[in-house]
Amino acid sequence: MPHRRYRFHINGIVQGVGFRPFVYRLARELNLAGFVNNTSEGVLIEAQGPLENLDTFRRRLREEAPPLSRIVDFALKEIPPSHDDGFSIIESDDNASASTLIAPDMSVCADCLRELFDPADRRYRYPFINCTNCGPRFTITAGIPYDRPKTSMRVFPMCPDCEREYHDPGNRRFHAQPNACPVCGPKVELRDRNGDMIATDDPVQSAVDLLKAGNIVAIRGLGGFHLAVDAFNDAAVSELRRRKGRAEKPFAMMAPDIETIERFCYVEEEEKALLAAPTRPIVLLRARAETPVAPSVAPGNAYLGFMLPYTPLHYLLVRERFDALVMTSGNYSEEPIAIGNAEGLERLRPLADFFLLHDREILQRCDDSVARVVGGKTRLLRRSRGFVPVPVFVEGEFKTPVLACGGELKSAIALTRGNAVFLSQHIGDLDNPAAFKFYQHSIGYLKDILQIEPEIIAHDLHPEYLSTKWATEQGLPLVGVQHHHAHLVSVQAENGVSGKTIGIILDGTGYGTDGTIWGGEVLVGDAREFTRFAWLEPVPMPGGEAAVREPWRMAVSYLYASFGAGIEALRIPVIERHRGELPVMLRMIDRGVNSPVSSGCGRLFDAVSSILGIREVANYEAQPAIELEMSVDESVRAVYENALPERGAHGSFSVLPLVESVVGDLRSNVPLSRIAAMFHLTLAEIFVRLAKNAREATGLNKVALSGGVFQNVFFFNFIVTRLQGEGFEVLTHSVVPANDGGLALGQAVIAGIHAAGAGK
Ligand code: ZN
Ligand code: ZN
Ligand code: FE
Repeated sequence: MPHRRYRFHINGIVQGVGFRPFVYRLARELNLAGFVNNTSEGVLIEAQGPLENLDTFRRRLREEAPPLSRIVDFALKEIPPSHDDGFSIIESDDNASASTLIAPDMSVCADCLRELFDPADRRYRYPFINCTNCGPRFTITAGIPYDRPKTSMRVFPMCPDCEREYHDPGNRRFHAQPNACPVCGPKVELRDRNGDMIATDDPVQSAVDLLKAGNIVAIRGLGGFHLAVDAFNDAAVSELRRRKGRAEKPFAMMAPDIETIERFCYVEEEEKALLAAPTRPIVLLRARAETPVAPSVAPGNAYLGFMLPYTPLHYLLVRERFDALVMTSGNYSEEPIAIGNAEGLERLRPLADFFLLHDREILQRCDDSVARVVGGKTRLLRRSRGFVPVPVFVEGEFKTPVLACGGELKSAIALTRGNAVFLSQHIGDLDNPAAFKFYQHSIGYLKDILQIEPEIIAHDLHPEYLSTKWATEQGLPLVGVQHHHAHLVSVQAENGVSGKTIGIILDGTGYGTDGTIWGGEVLVGDAREFTRFAWLEPVPMPGGEAAVREPWRMAVSYLYASFGAGIEALRIPVIERHRGELPVMLRMIDRGVNSPVSSGCGRLFDAVSSILGIREVANYEAQPAIELEMSVDESVRAVYENALPERGAHGSFSVLPLVESVVGDLRSNVPLSRIAAMFHLTLAEIFVRLAKNAREATGLNKVALSGGVFQNVFFFNFIVTRLQGEGFEVLTHSVVPANDGGLALGQAVIAGIHAAGAGK
């Protein structure tokens, strides 16, 4: 029977995930000759044998590919037969341009975990155990192709045992680049805050003992340092808060298993799956009323953030002795997390009592990702470790590579190639100089590993964003993208929708095309263009940015707009408390001094939170809105009818009737939980009605939801239910955050369309 020969080019996440050994085993099983090779252009396979076997090979390559792999392109052509000695794996070549992808970091797999706790295994309790199916990838990689010399494992020559596994195609560690063992691999060490080594046979056990005694231990992990403290020790957790300069923002915790987490929180099936996924995000879970965790872990919040251990080191730390360990990023409030040993010791010395270090360098900083399940779907709040650099695929091709610069807060950038948009890890708030440095580094690194040289730069319209300023200095063609337009297209793109839709885009701040601040928007549009169908009537923000930090200023602004001079006579707590400052505020507003106007929906949440006396000064971003949501009586289903828009209403919409109703109920001693609920429901209903008006005006039936306000679960659930009840098809975020962390996706798509339209 004549033999035929096929050449396959396979692209996607196909390196460092056990793809070659899989190909090798499959080819041998099917008696095919040829080779498989990792190239910078992806995996190249030539296979020769009877046609029937080749066809089986082709089918099973796709059907049985290893779990961590992801095939994006699969090309095949027949070539003339040649001579091979069986089937072999050829070493990587490292020239040519790359279209192959580095895998994200994955949690330790079940096989490795079993070995970790098997006293007979040669890697018993070895904190860096890994295999082809698990372990570090993105964070230890300096360049492509993904091979040991281009990772931080290059300084650890393998011992003969590891070497044997590495070269044995039948072994789970065949070509596992981070393969290591206690003989040849990275090691942990324990130091005090002066950097002096602490003598111990078992640094991990000693660290556990120190944690048990109430110490704060900085732990070098996968994508950076954590600060760890016993979650049951309120004094220790409070001390960590004091040192970190983080008054009330919740801390995440790590627990050994799902059963343990269930003692603290309600965990639905989808949440269990999310917790246990190899991406291992922090999952926000509803806390049980009687949760034994220290109150200072998440003050004022009905949710607790939990993650399962994801590295072997984490398992060694929590498996036996901790039911819950606070594991918060190793940084001062908004700085990037520390990653290097020397850097960690220097930056975290004021924060930590001890340091559990290791010598496997972290080359890419990557925070824990944060997610929750809402409406049966995963919603990412922070897309980082485990997800990066997996691309988001969109409809259509980018003809011209785009760099999208993101926004200012919760910043992330994006690069495009083909139909893929690669978002960077979470970078943080750029007004922090260290974060801005990290931002620039991330752009360079992503360009490098993806071998993408952008030809167009997309940026936010805000002239004061550092990302905008940076963009304008690059000497490339620019596409300025309105903030809420980017939000709209971001949610359209991840849902594979390219036509016009209605968009309800609600956030705190975004620069409008008229130079004022927007953020309570009903838009109609697609990637090409948009119109502003309706928006919340703007109000002044007395003090500008100060009004974001001090929501009582927004309360004053809304109350002044509602009651005019009558504000003086209002006998409500927020006015009583700030009576002394009132004249200055009102003068600022009257004269328009340092009082930019804003239609931001987030500011309305701030104002109402403050009017109800829930939160007058924000200790962290969105705290007033979060605490307002936490105070809601979820059984309430009433709205303030007088505050709803008329049929046909569009353009500027006043929420002053809503504010007045809230004040009226407050003065009639209606319970806060009921007022808070009615505020949420009414605001949602306002946007449902405006969306219906937009539908009548345009004939469009799809409505896309984006912006940080949609992270409010009560608000989100209600508005989605109502919109669906009205027959709308509702598009929501799942794979990128609804907040500004997802902005770059929309910017990229808009710039791509713009470039195509310009005939490039
Ligand atoms: Zn493994
Ligand atoms: Zn070894
Ligand atoms: Fe935004």
